[in-house]
Order: sequence, then C-alpha cells, then structure tokens
Amino acid sequence: MPRTQGIYIITNMVTAETYIGSSVDIAERWSDHRWHLKNNRHKNVLLQAACDCDGLNAFHLGVLEHVEQAEQLARREQHYLDLLKPVYNGDEVAIRAPYRTWRSDEADWKRFWSKVDQAEEGCWLWQGTMLRQGYGCFKIAGKMYKAHRVAYLYAIGPIPAGLALCHTCDNPRCVRPGHLFPGTYKDNMQDAMRKGRMATGERSGARLHPESRTRGDKHWTRAEPGR
Ligand SMILES: [Zn+2]
Repeated sequence: MPRTQGIYIITNMVTAETYIGSSVDIAERWSDHRWHLKNNRHKNVLLQAACDCDGLNAFHLGVLEHVEQAEQLARREQHYLDLLKPVYNGDEVAIRAPYRTWRSDEADWKRFWSKVDQAEEGCWLWQGTMLRQGYGCFKIAGKMYKAHRVAYLYAIGPIPAGLALCHTCDNPRCVRPGHLFPGTYKDNMQDAMRKGRMATGERSGARLHPESRTRGDKHWTRAEPGR
C-alpha cells in the first residue's frame, strides 16, 4: 500500500461509533492502533473498552481525506472532529488540536505560570480567573480552558482522550503537575465522593488542607477584586 497522508476514521461496525485521527502514514498508524488495542495498551480508554467489548475485527479503517501538506493535517483533522463529533475522541476534541500550537507560544506559557503561586511544598494555587466549580480557568487564543488541565499539558503532556484530570490533593484550584493524574470520569466521581469533595465542615478540603488555601491579602478576591 502506498504511503497515504491525511485524515482517517476508524468505525466500530457493531456500534457505528467512530474515532478520527491524522497521520503522515495512515497504514502505519492503523497497524499501530491495532497493535495497541490487541495488547490492551491503547492510551484511548474509550477505544480500548470498545475493543474489549466488540473485538478488534469490529473496527474498520476509512480515509476521509488525502492531505498534501503535513502542516495542514491538524487543521483538517479539527474540521472533521467538529463536523462528525466522533464518540471515541471524547472531550479532548477541543483541547487536543490547539495544544499542538500552544507549546510554541512562549507568551502564553509565561502568562500562565505568572498566575501560579508555586509554593515549595503543598499545592500550587491558581491566582487567575476562577470558574464557579472551584477550578481556575485560562484563555488561550480566545478559548477558555481549565487551568489545571493546561498546567498538565504544559508540564507533562497530552491527557489521554476520554479521561478526566483528577487531583490527588482534592483541591480543584491546585495546578501543581505532580498533584494531577488522568483518570476516568467515573473514578473522578468516586474519588470525589470518597474524599468528600462535596462535603462541608470537618471533611471539607479547607479544613483538611488549610495550608492549601490562600487567605487575606493573598487571596485572589483581594488580589484581583474586580473578579
Ligand atoms: Zn495540590
């Protein structure tokens, strides 16, 4: 098979669910996907779960578009992600493609870390804009992202598709990469219940980790009262 560069789609013929990707060599990527699925090592948990359930032979490969120039791959991939919203690409759809361009943008990177209080010990608290659920948020190229996810992307790398990014410290405002780990949304919920994230009083995060909460003049509501 001649080398094909472009956008491909993997379809589960049992469920009609799909996955979209791009590659400079689609045939090689396809055999890569199959090898990882067969050996139960695919980093996309949704694809792996589907393979475990429906078998490797349920998956079929199709080519959506031949792309002449490699630098157009990400843009064309995003086009199909937006158009077809493939189930197996999960919630990473929005964050994966821009990530490719973030790393090269030093200004965003500097701006991001300037909003982080990098304590020597304990949590690194986000000092920028906060979301109502207690997460920090950060804007890149006009798009909002959760701050802890950005920190992980910058410091460690891509978050596997379909996974949530959980906190070992149970502090949603913390962006310390070492306190973050990818887990399933189910894990995240169970984890939250076990740690009593929604709990109040003695079981609340503020009581369990008082050192992790900034207070007084350092608190973001004081530092940025406009927020
Ligand atoms: Zn933390």
